Amino acid sequence: MAISLRDTPIKRKLMLVILLASGFALFLMGSALITYEVITFRRSLAVNMRVLAEIIGSNSTASLAFKDAKSAREILSALSAEHQITSAAIYDSNGQIFARFPTDAPLTDFSLTPQPDGQRFQGAHLEMFRPIMLEKNRIGTIYLQAALAAMYARIAVYGGLLLIVTACAALGAIALTTTLQKRISQPILELANVATAVSEGQDYSVRATKHGTDEIGQLTESFNQMLTRIDESSTALMASEERLRSALEEAEAANKAKDNFLAILSHELRTPLTPVLSTVAMLEEDSEIHTRIPRELEMIRRNIEVEARLIDDLLDVTGIIRGKMELRRQIVDIRPLLEHAMQNYCAEEAGRKKLRVSTEITVSETHALVDTSRMTQVFWNLLQNACKFTPPGGAISIRVYNEFAREIAPELGHDGLGTKLIVEIKDTGIGISPENMSRIFNAFEQGERSRTRVFGGLGLGLAISRAIIEMHGGSVTAESEGTDKGSTIAIRLPTVPTPATKREKKQEDPAAAKRAPSKPRRLRVLLVEDHLDTANQLNRLLSHAGHEVTWAATVREARELVSARANQPGNEFNILISDLGLPDGSGHDLMRDLASDHPIPGIALSGYGMTEDIQNSMAAGFSRHITKPVDWQELKTAIQKIAVSET
Ligand code: ADP
Repeated sequence: MAISLRDTPIKRKLMLVILLASGFALFLMGSALITYEVITFRRSLAVNMRVLAEIIGSNSTASLAFKDAKSAREILSALSAEHQITSAAIYDSNGQIFARFPTDAPLTDFSLTPQPDGQRFQGAHLEMFRPIMLEKNRIGTIYLQAALAAMYARIAVYGGLLLIVTACAALGAIALTTTLQKRISQPILELANVATAVSEGQDYSVRATKHGTDEIGQLTESFNQMLTRIDESSTALMASEERLRSALEEAEAANKAKDNFLAILSHELRTPLTPVLSTVAMLEEDSEIHTRIPRELEMIRRNIEVEARLIDDLLDVTGIIRGKMELRRQIVDIRPLLEHAMQNYCAEEAGRKKLRVSTEITVSETHALVDTSRMTQVFWNLLQNACKFTPPGGAISIRVYNEFAREIAPELGHDGLGTKLIVEIKDTGIGISPENMSRIFNAFEQGERSRTRVFGGLGLGLAISRAIIEMHGGSVTAESEGTDKGSTIAIRLPTVPTPATKREKKQEDPAAAKRAPSKPRRLRVLLVEDHLDTANQLNRLLSHAGHEVTWAATVREARELVSARANQPGNEFNILISDLGLPDGSGHDLMRDLASDHPIPGIALSGYGMTEDIQNSMAAGFSRHITKPVDWQELKTAIQKIAVSET
């Protein structure tokens, strides 16, 4: 009921309230009136009856005294004038009925003996017994009975009147409601309509009309104020969203520009390194010079490699941030990778600084699904840091061991065991303070500036290493007891079951040994390079290695040279070594063109070394993509591989 009343329209509620209020007032008034009537009627009836009883009693004393029943009946018959008296009787002193009215009324209608004096209401009658006294003696009793019908008739009339008044009041209430509704519910309904329009149309410019200054008027005003405020805030919100979208677009554009800039920068930085590195490679191959200045040559090579690594790190971190670093994973033994990194990147520096390097390798599971070059990069970073941050005379201990746990990754190990390979690199160096511990894995963050600046670096090695290891499903942690207390950096990698060993594979394939070239073949090389120094150096190195080199500086020249040689059977080029950014086009276009008319294996040389650059070179048809500065050994191996496969 409460719920249905709550849901009833205001107009009906108003009508109901008026009806109930007026009905209740009428009911109270009617009840009071009727009660008053009943009480007054009864009181006056009782008084009348008492007077009648007195009169009849005093008139009938003689009849009783002389036992004259006839005269007593005559006295009683006078009551016929009193229409409310229905019956009456006179009892003698013995309590016997002496006379009765009406005379023909059956005796059974009367009480056989008089009842105690007094008056009482019995059903629809009022009965009265009173003594008849002669001087001070009771000589009989008078009994009177009056009907209350007249009273009920009056009550019925009052009831009827009340009903008529109530009906009139209801009609009045309906009329009143219609008038009041306009004043009370209409503004509320209007307000509700405006609210619906606002919420459906999201139009905050509409306003409700204020009809007065009462509570509804105040409500309308507050509602309009609220709309004004919502309107203002939504306009402000839209403006700020717009600003944000354009703060975002600019940031994206700036980000793209930055990526682009980094790629170009690295290209431009790498290119001049190539001729220097090639010259060093050439000088290293000259035994006389190499014996004379081995340290100087090594120093030049190391510094160029460090610089190239810094450039690579910058590119890598951009790739990681953009989620563009891709892994080429294969199952490999991690141990040789680590040993190679130690020999190549640690041994020399450790020797120079007189660092004691010890290794403890206690592993059974050493294979993991990794990208070898990325893994080498991680080892290189960590070993380089250990050497860099440990003062001369310190110690570096490398521990490699397994952790077996069922709950780690059951799908990765034997017999449901999750086996991890842990490589721990511990040093006695400058240590890491607790406050720096949380920062050192962030890109471009270094430990205490005053100390680490001395050692150089960009603060990228750990960030890149952690990203690479996490991409392999592993983790990197750093521990240190504090400044100058040394550090321990640990890598945890999930292992995979050991595959058939290389030796076993070789035994299975004895022809492979026969196929291996003992001496590199003399090749006719088409070198396409527009950077003069690089071209000269590569030309020298390739010629020195016994190859016949023809040089072109543009795509057009290269095409012409290939076409010309195609007409000289036995004199076609065996291999194309081409830079990618050429003055009149790209090395990719050249490779694609040649593929249709004069297919020739190719090696791409580029200052761009991101995963997508390498993929683009492969898609264009190159067999290898070598990033500048060109490592001569790498180029030599690549040429050799192509030469073998071409035989
Ligand atoms: P970078 O070596 O170029 O500074 P990294 O990202 O490799 O950058 O290292 C970040 C910082 O972590 C270093 O600057 C150094 O403060 C701290 N750190 C890394 N390895 C070690 C270590 N073995 N001993 C002490 N501090 C280290």
